Amino acid sequence: MKAIVVKPGEKDSIHMRDMPDPKMKPDQVAVKMLRVGLCGTDAEINHGLYGKAPEGDEFLILGHENLGVVEEVGKKVKGWKAGDLVVSTVRRPCGKCAQCKHGENDMCSSGQYTERGIMRRHGFMAQYYVEQPLYLNKIPKAIHDFAVLLEPMSVVQKGIDHSYLLRQSLKGWKPKFAMVLGAGPIGLLAAAVLRLRGLRVVVIAREAATEFKAQTAKQLGAEYLSVANRAMTDVPKETGYPDIIIEATGVSKVVFDAMEMLGANGVLCLLSVTGGDTMNPEPIDLINQRLVLGNQIVFGSVNANPRHFAQGVKDFVAIDKKWPGVMNKLLTDKIPWQDHKKWFTERGGGVKSTLEIQ
Ligand code: BGC
Repeated sequence: MKAIVVKPGEKDSIHMRDMPDPKMKPDQVAVKMLRVGLCGTDAEINHGLYGKAPEGDEFLILGHENLGVVEEVGKKVKGWKAGDLVVSTVRRPCGKCAQCKHGENDMCSSGQYTERGIMRRHGFMAQYYVEQPLYLNKIPKAIHDFAVLLEPMSVVQKGIDHSYLLRQSLKGWKPKFAMVLGAGPIGLLAAAVLRLRGLRVVVIAREAATEFKAQTAKQLGAEYLSVANRAMTDVPKETGYPDIIIEATGVSKVVFDAMEMLGANGVLCLLSVTGGDTMNPEPIDLINQRLVLGNQIVFGSVNANPRHFAQGVKDFVAIDKKWPGVMNKLLTDKIPWQDHKKWFTERGGGVKSTLEIQ
């Protein structure tokens, strides 16, 4: 089959090539790929900064944000049929640590997990893949058009879920006001989910208030503030200090600004995986004092549990009912997969680019 691969560790190695067809086992289904989402992680892997090929392989089939259609069902599989739309999860358990043994491979503590299209396991930029149903999510027709966003949505769901779980010790904590930093796919999905939960949401990013991303945030009932020409840390003086901040800018400096913006008993959820080695002086006495006196929580969150994919499907149905068409519009650049190099060399200002697998 045709696939898009990289040589992990080598800069700009991405190319299309023939790879062996995957062989379906009786407890698996075979899925024909329809669409793959592109994200910063894919760019980092093609930069040679991140990612590993499966053991013994020279190449890694790239791609972790996925949408496909079931083509064949193994003899031992129940509940799936040809034609079902499907989104696969990304991470597989290490088989050793307590978290993986308890079905929480998104919290793997050994670091020996594998991730499709990222770490030691082939991804979805291919004509086909095979998988056990345990790792698959059935997609209702109603959200087919934008279901490729389910994987980034699962990351958002986990961040928000854990923000609430971590504050469970505080009796009567009921967040009313959230800030979302960054108006890319993760930021806008977070704004949609928090709005659905009834919170006041302020999205903060660099784009002008007239730009598409800002308009999208507003269509979801969020407020939008551009910080192109002002200090982000001044914003709460005007808006009030939030109960929750979701950081999704991809810029580590912003993480420290966010610590200065959190309200009392607030939770700051960090979702950006920042490669690089930037150094920066920060007002650490002030930051520490605010964190201590405000009883605040700062935590990092990566990947997602199957329950976050399931909640993502439910919320997508509800979001599309409440704000029809907005999710679909997040897919701003649909690129034929033969033209994949275009995205890796000249990434534009859209929200989500996808490769259309033909
Ligand atoms: C993916 C996650 C993955 C993480 C770290 C992100 O881009 O969405 O599924 O766990 O990268 O590899």
